[in-house]
Amino acid sequence: MEEHHSVPITGILNKLSIKDLSISGKKVFIRVDFNVPLDENMNITDDRRIRSTLATINYAIDEGSKIILASHLGSPKGEPDKKYTLASIARRLQRLIKKEVTFVPNCLGPEVEEIVNRMSEGDIILLENLRFNPGEEENSEEFSKSLAKLVDFYINDAFGASHRHHASIVGIPKLLPSAAGFLLQKEIDYLQGVVNHPVRPFVAVLGGAKVSGKIDVIRNLEDKVDKVIIGGGMAYTFLKAMGYNVGDSLVEDDMLELANEIREAVVSKGIKFYLPVDCVIAQSIDAAAETKLVTAQEIPNGWKAVDIGPASVKLFSEALESAKTILWNGPMGVFEVDAFSRGTFSIAHAIADAYALTIVGGGDTDLAVSRAGVSESISFISTGGGAALELLEGKVLPGLEALTNKEIKDTE
Ligand code: AMP
Repeated sequence: MEEHHSVPITGILNKLSIKDLSISGKKVFIRVDFNVPLDENMNITDDRRIRSTLATINYAIDEGSKIILASHLGSPKGEPDKKYTLASIARRLQRLIKKEVTFVPNCLGPEVEEIVNRMSEGDIILLENLRFNPGEEENSEEFSKSLAKLVDFYINDAFGASHRHHASIVGIPKLLPSAAGFLLQKEIDYLQGVVNHPVRPFVAVLGGAKVSGKIDVIRNLEDKVDKVIIGGGMAYTFLKAMGYNVGDSLVEDDMLELANEIREAVVSKGIKFYLPVDCVIAQSIDAAAETKLVTAQEIPNGWKAVDIGPASVKLFSEALESAKTILWNGPMGVFEVDAFSRGTFSIAHAIADAYALTIVGGGDTDLAVSRAGVSESISFISTGGGAALELLEGKVLPGLEALTNKEIKDTE
């Protein structure tokens, strides 16, 4: 799609950017988020998170920095576990960046110090998984200090991990001049800048499993959007709260009252609130299950809604037509099963075709967009799941907060 709106840079204005630091010829620790999905043979199934950091790494190469990259991968519980080694990620990065990347099989210790001290300008090393050391998740000061003393500057380009209070996210930046990399800046610009200052009409499309996971997002968007479209499992809690029989669909009974309150609050502000009008139902979440198409008022007991139906797709697509900004978070149904994926993929196409600035808020939704084959037509797809949700909930990311404020640099 053509990019015809400028992206306001707002959220990050008070923090240093990598361009504000004189990193030329210096040792720079770049925290990246290389926590990529792997298959059972440990092959990387999606390298978008690696590709998304290339702008920052290439900038540091051009500046002649000595680049020390570090990331976590999976949850290895504070000790080495070869299942979670970053060795294959170093190889993938080397292919993508077309430059030698030295993998260091430790994240701390004399070997790391020796290698860092021997680095020349433009060299790149990738340290082993930070979570092989318990200090990372415990945010140990000692761990942060040991890493900080190796380098001159700290850059955070690990958006997907920036909601974590871990040493490499909040500890090291307190000890060094620290700035945001280009990916972190872009994520904040879209998920905070655009969302807080959208070109209207602004439509939020929310789906996924549970209302409880998205309540704070709806609350935060309440004052910003013109329309809210609800699909996925969470729709059935809203429908049940309105008095419909939703059969065996996913419902959070403890959220019924809150669902009504939220719907009423949204509608009372003049925001249009859309729920599915029809759905695909099945007796079990199983590719071979028999399916039926029914209206949202007619879901029989023993059956559950697994996707939105064609009338809902039409209703939602029409609601999206006039949008100038669209935010999408959460699939419209159990799209992982082919037979239940049509609603999600149709909405992915409607969003991709809209003459609007389109933002996909990470998590499962980026997988849905890529399976629908429309990733290239979306203005921005976030690389973060939890971090994206926290920003959309209006929270401050600890990793961003920990970076050096702009004023402090003036006194250096
Ligand atoms: P979330 O992480 O909250 O965005 O939820 C994503 C998950 O919601 C996906 O794995 C979907 O399979 C699931 N989901 C979407 N629609 C439904 C539904 N109608 N019933 C049960 N699960 C659903």
